[in-house]
Amino acid sequence: MENVRYILNTTTKKAKRICEFAVKEGAFNKSYGVKCENYDCGVIIKSFKNTPTIIDIKCSHCLNNEEEYGIKNSTNTSLIEFYELAT
Ligand SMILES: [Zn+2]
Repeated sequence: MENVRYILNTTTKKAKRICEFAVKEGAFNKSYGVKCENYDCGVIIKSFKNTPTIIDIKCSHCLNNEEEYGIKNSTNTSLIEFYELAT
């Protein structure tokens, strides 16, 4: 989503419309992801093809680094929508 917006240098709303159009055309697949909210991490922990009902997932990346780097709030996650090129 952000990548598309950057490339097209346009508004988020426009970018979203373009993405939705691309999904209809079969160029993009729409996915849902659970993203780690840790600023230093931000990885998509898990992705889904449909809206997931459970987003309470711990970020294993943060959990692995917790002791070493003292990262806190490793359980904070948020649901995002993203688009990927259809293969
Ligand atoms: Zn994380």
